[in-house]
Amino acid sequence: MACLNGAGWIAAEDAADADLIIINSCGFIESAKQESINAVLLWRKRYPDKKILLAGCLAQRYAKELAESLPEADLLFGNTDLGGIIGAAAQTLGVEAGVVETGGRTLPAEGEGSHTGNRPLLSLPGSAYVKINEGCNNRCTFCSIPLIRGSLRSRSITHVFAECRELLGRGIRELCLIGQDIGSYGKDFSGAKSLLPGSLLPDLLEALSELKGDFWVRLLYIHPDNFPLPILDIMERDKRFLPYFDLPFQHGSEKILAAMNRRGNAEIYLNLIKTIRSRLPGAVIRSTFLLGFPGETEDDFRALLDFQDKARLDWLGCFTYSREEDTPAYAMKPRVPKKLAAERKRIVEERQISISEKQMDPFVGKDFDVLVEEAVDEEEGLYLGRIYCQAPEVDGAAVISDTGTVSAGDRHLAPGSMVRGRVVGRAGVDLELKITGKS
Ligand code: SF4
Repeated sequence: MACLNGAGWIAAEDAADADLIIINSCGFIESAKQESINAVLLWRKRYPDKKILLAGCLAQRYAKELAESLPEADLLFGNTDLGGIIGAAAQTLGVEAGVVETGGRTLPAEGEGSHTGNRPLLSLPGSAYVKINEGCNNRCTFCSIPLIRGSLRSRSITHVFAECRELLGRGIRELCLIGQDIGSYGKDFSGAKSLLPGSLLPDLLEALSELKGDFWVRLLYIHPDNFPLPILDIMERDKRFLPYFDLPFQHGSEKILAAMNRRGNAEIYLNLIKTIRSRLPGAVIRSTFLLGFPGETEDDFRALLDFQDKARLDWLGCFTYSREEDTPAYAMKPRVPKKLAAERKRIVEERQISISEKQMDPFVGKDFDVLVEEAVDEEEGLYLGRIYCQAPEVDGAAVISDTGTVSAGDRHLAPGSMVRGRVVGRAGVDLELKITGKS
């Protein structure tokens, strides 16, 4: 969107008014691939005469196959050269790229143009994702992402800093740093063939701590085998770095973890959790588990349940194994029947509900900064927001049912603003809040 805007294209509010429909696809597991293809078929059916450009990971991974089997898409565009979207869009419409009015602006090379603080944001108000690295060198055996996204490439600290500063200048209150594994940030910086041993994530956070103002920095997705402990020092010092950790442990059985090409085990991971919680009381940990990996026996499953009990994760997402071509696990046996994997997933998810609920109880009765996201009913003073323990879209919500006397006579809270609130109760995994003042 940033590249296209920069070249003079205008995003239509409604597809009916558009000349070109761009579908950004996902391609890393079966259900995501199916969803992406269904989206193409749906939009083709709705708009038989419009041009459709299929962009993103599915187009990257299956360019050849889709060119033959998916005529509903007029053109495919992968994910390696984002700046090339301008030419691809023009090609799909059958116009020359030069026909599009560029407004005299030029785009930086290698897609850096899409990583600026003034780009369009698709996130909820007040929050922005900042990609700090792309690609992954971990090579987990089940994962197709390195095939689609390539090896690790980190953005420079200077670029990330500049983007964050621009975003804060636009009133953004939460910066979510993302990448396939941000614990590996900067390991590719030497420019030499061999990788630097250490993560430069602490260096990046040190740099970002120089930014002025009141805001949150949330770190999303650190591979637990690559956790850079020095980030805890920075979080202790600068409370703007939220004590929220998304650590995809994937399993609790050492045998399965080794088959996944992950170095840890339940004991190491429990120690990491203990360290984080002892250094940062109030730390919140989210994770993902993968059920039904080849070779997962009842004993392995029990090891996972045992890990779940001991870890007391605040939040957990579960997936069943998806057999992906060209990954090492594709050929692994014995395969776990899909039905059994789904049943194991259901059991883990059900157990997690009460764990997450209990983990939320200590928040009740305390005051927190709240990022207001959405007005559900302004008349009634009902809003949705988040406090630090809730990442965008994936965790429970902060339900603001009492706006207090935040602005005498005016119960309106602006989405994207930060206010102060007290957690007055818990409903399931959601927290109920009363606003007590401006942040
Ligand atoms: S760390 Fe994540 S993105 Fe990288 S290979 Fe493993 S699962 Fe895939």
